[in-house]
Amino acid sequence: MQTIAERINSALEGITQAATSVHRPPNSVKLLAVSKTKPVSDIVEAYEAGQRMFAENYVQEGIEKVQELEHLTDIEWHMIGPIQSNKTKVVAEHFHWVQSVDREKIARRLNDQRPDNLPALNVCIQLNIDDEDSKSGVKPNELDDLIQFIESQEKLCLRGIMAIPKANPSEEEQHHTLGKLKELYDHYHKSLTNFDTLSVGMSSDMNAAIKNGSTMVRIGTAIFGKRG
Ligand SMILES: *Cc1c(COP(=O)(O)O)cnc(C)c1O
Repeated sequence: MQTIAERINSALEGITQAATSVHRPPNSVKLLAVSKTKPVSDIVEAYEAGQRMFAENYVQEGIEKVQELEHLTDIEWHMIGPIQSNKTKVVAEHFHWVQSVDREKIARRLNDQRPDNLPALNVCIQLNIDDEDSKSGVKPNELDDLIQFIESQEKLCLRGIMAIPKANPSEEEQHHTLGKLKELYDHYHKSLTNFDTLSVGMSSDMNAAIKNGSTMVRIGTAIFGKRG
């Protein structure tokens, strides 16, 4: 059995290898540790191994962990799961990033409810890149409107796009999806000041995502083991 520290090191080595294979600097890809369903003790173990960016999917579970680990002041907390509008306030109060913004109403509420004493909330727009009915996220043709709206919100800082490509794609489908994502990302990255994040790649498709321009991989299973 590998320890969490060993698995983090393997993930970081994997990032370095995938990045260098396409002549990207290893530090151009960040490792986000997805700790959903895992106990706080696992997060502390990862923290002690040097990991600082963590992500949660479920609002209530996430808030409890943020509060329990409040003393670890340099953790950066990311919300990556769907948010109902009655949960935006606690999210705006406790997280540094929200990657799952998929409509104007949620963006407006996060902006209005972000406490004045905190810096702007970093947000990514979740994009339903493969147009799957089962997935949340905006369709590519709705992206531009939501970008314009978020750019107008003072307490939001638009950082980029998050996507969850279709599971088990053929090599051709994967290439197509990741290529489309990169094209959209590059377009806005050129014109918007803080738009520097393409959040794509999980335990099973990390290498392909990095080779296609991902700047942040969200890794759960490969760090913390299977979820029950
Ligand atoms: C659970 C989850 C992950 C991590 O997936 P693994 O396959 O365990 O690495 C990444 N992103 C999102 C949005 C998730 O819900």
